[in-house]
Amino acid sequence: MVIKPMIRNNICMNAHPDGCAAYVAREVAYVRSRGKISNGPKRVLVIGSSTGYGLSSRITAAFGCDAGTIGVAFEREGSEKRTGTAGYYNTLAFEAEAKSAGLVAESINGDAFSHAMKEEVVGRIKKLFGQVDLVVYSLASAVRTDPDTGEMYRSVLKPTGKGYTTKSIDPMTGEVKEVTAEAASEEEIRHTVKVMGGEDWDLWMKSLLSAGVLAQGAVTVAYSYIGPDLMASIYRAGTIGKAKEDLEEKAIRLTDTLKAVGGKAYVSVNKALVTRSSAVIPAVPLYLALLFKVMKEKNVHEDCIQQIYRLFSERLYAGGQVPVDDKGRIRIDDWEFRSDVQSEISRLWPEASTGNIGSIGDLEKYRTDFLQMHGFGFDSVDYEKDVQP
Ligand code: NAD
Repeated sequence: MVIKPMIRNNICMNAHPDGCAAYVAREVAYVRSRGKISNGPKRVLVIGSSTGYGLSSRITAAFGCDAGTIGVAFEREGSEKRTGTAGYYNTLAFEAEAKSAGLVAESINGDAFSHAMKEEVVGRIKKLFGQVDLVVYSLASAVRTDPDTGEMYRSVLKPTGKGYTTKSIDPMTGEVKEVTAEAASEEEIRHTVKVMGGEDWDLWMKSLLSAGVLAQGAVTVAYSYIGPDLMASIYRAGTIGKAKEDLEEKAIRLTDTLKAVGGKAYVSVNKALVTRSSAVIPAVPLYLALLFKVMKEKNVHEDCIQQIYRLFSERLYAGGQVPVDDKGRIRIDDWEFRSDVQSEISRLWPEASTGNIGSIGDLEKYRTDFLQMHGFGFDSVDYEKDVQP
């Protein structure tokens, strides 16, 4: 099949296997170019390992620390008629690269929220490693089925309290327009916290601890975002922000739980980037187009892999105390929130329009990132070639 991108409502419906392999190869090459991280973990579990920050975490652990990895993700495999998801091809490509480097790499495809997956992972850890030193929690999902009651919860991206109108962009057409989001109901807030808050992370860590598969001094890290004031209504003060507050609170309690093995739970606040999840949040694509331009001009732009390499090498495994903010969070969004970066974006935001976004923002970089994360837009790939999905 010849595979071309099929995009609807800012969601790419398909993926290219060779392009996904090129995406993974580029991240692996970056880590190799930066060299080994001394004191890094050797046995790592990544929950949400197939795309975005989780994939970069797995690649950094493997190629930066020589770690064996177990990855958990929920992806659709390819078939005769339909391509698989990008995460499915990324995982195949990662495993091939890791194995050729002599590293253990096993992946489990299925629902991380279920009890069955937790049991399966415990069994796999016992078989492969005995115990793990690092657990990365990088899930992003719109739905979660409660493993005890079977009830399905759906997360929404809405402001809380009152509705909100913001500038936004259709990244594919470049049209800048106002969009309005209604305020979430109490029920929607509760659902979003249930899906994207810290409950499942807590369940994972307690399962691993009680099964005895956390090594002495084991570390766990989950990812969060704060975001600029101009997106506060939709992000930090919105439904997703409530879920992130819950996740951050859980980190403090989890550190208590992990005292039994001298372990520690961290939340790392990461930079805004184009991933499957962030592309559908109102205002985010416009913010990203401006952010990319400003950060590139100041020579501080990073993608997922640069962020995670810095998280491992300069925060988690730098040796000594892990630097955190006054709420105990690791900050690798520090360059995004440099005052000169944010003041420039605040100046550009009110001016941004369909006519000038191509020059004051980097919409091309946004589009390239969006396409490449589905395996499209790589010069090295022949997109006219017939490939087996
Ligand atoms: P992503 O969509 O690229 O990756 C999500 C991962 O979760 C995938 O591996 C997917 O397979 C997996 N997943 C989803 N549902 C699952 C399920 N039920 N069972 C097993 N696996 C499942 O997301 P991302 O943007 O990398 O986000 C990861 C984390 O980083 C999130 O907590 C997000 O809030 C946070 N974060 C993202 C950004 C950003 O700009 N994208 C910034 C800061 C923090």
